[in-house]
Amino acid sequence: PDYDFQFEASLAKNEYPSAKMDAARGREHTSLAAQVCTEALWDKLKDKKSSGPAHWTLARAINTGVMYPESFVGCHAGDRESYDDFAEFFYPVIEAYHKGFSMEKGSDLQGTPSERMDPERIRVELSDSAQSKIISTRIRVARNLSMFPLNPGGTRESREAIADLMEQVYATIPDGSDLKGTLYRHTTMTDEERQQLIDDHFLFRGGDRMQAASGYHEHWPHGRGVYLSRDKQFVNWVNEGDHLRIISMEQGGDVKGVFSRLSRAAAAIEAGVQQATGETDVFMLHPKFGAVTCCPSNIGTGMRGSVHILVPKLIEAIGFEEIDALCRARNGQARGSSGEHSAVVDRIDVSNWRRIGLPEYELVEDMINCANYLAEREDAL
Ligand code: ADP
Ligand code: MG
Repeated sequence: PDYDFQFEASLAKNEYPSAKMDAARGREHTSLAAQVCTEALWDKLKDKKSSGPAHWTLARAINTGVMYPESFVGCHAGDRESYDDFAEFFYPVIEAYHKGFSMEKGSDLQGTPSERMDPERIRVELSDSAQSKIISTRIRVARNLSMFPLNPGGTRESREAIADLMEQVYATIPDGSDLKGTLYRHTTMTDEERQQLIDDHFLFRGGDRMQAASGYHEHWPHGRGVYLSRDKQFVNWVNEGDHLRIISMEQGGDVKGVFSRLSRAAAAIEAGVQQATGETDVFMLHPKFGAVTCCPSNIGTGMRGSVHILVPKLIEAIGFEEIDALCRARNGQARGSSGEHSAVVDRIDVSNWRRIGLPEYELVEDMINCANYLAEREDAL
């Protein structure tokens, strides 16, 4: 049941979910979707459909936030066009999440992607103390392919076509490359294999109720897969939520090494999709903010860099929520031991919070600063 899409009852009838919205507004944490989607705005946009392949509606866009008022963002795009077609809704959500970013001004990133992802431009380093507490480092970018709807607005066929295309793309990676690997599809993996990959932090979990409410899990497990290089340091998630999560990860705290692999890998995947499709603009890009993703939190660079860090005394002393608040005050975020919406078992996932308007190397700096700060707090206890 956690994989099934459920439409909230009022939204399914295309009616404003007044009761749910009133209840949501009474809470301390209210999704951005509920905050922005007033009844007046709803009335204005409720019969509109996006001009893209998903024919997205406001009802579908806000379903997660209405069903789960505790979600932070609570809305999703069904196709690239959704963001502009529902600008009166999405732009305020974007500006509320990405504080300081203005849709009117847009982002003004200088330099090419490989310049912005140049590890030599990172100006801070993990402290020795932080290094000693770090289990592993992972940096990913979210990317979606221009020729398909975003997954919340997709079909079984679009998801399968994406996985088939990626299989061709992975075949373009030369055998001698450290990026060479294998695409494992959910339809042919055993449950045990899948669980092992999840436990080892290589694979998305699926079955997340908030993600289910966005439509991420529809037609599960079709078209889902994970590409793993032989050393498992280059990983691609295929059709979790976004079409692609391009991931570089390894044990330890060599942030520059991880970032450098990511830069190289993202360029290789882009070139591979260009070669396989004959298209030049293969990743969905928006003129104002850059990479287009299903969730407004990821737009822009689509990059989240994280370290898994052990700070047991700090967890004991102030708890996870307080650690997260400390990170938020430093442009960072804390997550549980197995990713978003997971519990803290031992390690904490510390990452950059911002994704937009700043070059990727600066976002890596946010993560490093956060990890250093937590290590310092741990040492003071
Ligand atoms: P995202 O959507 O940003 O890719 P999620 O929180 O949804 O992240 O899931 C992240 C997955 O990657 C989880 O399995 C998590 O345990 C794993 N992960 C995150 N950071 C690290 C890290 N630094 N080292 C190893 N695994 C990590
Ligand atoms: Mg995620």
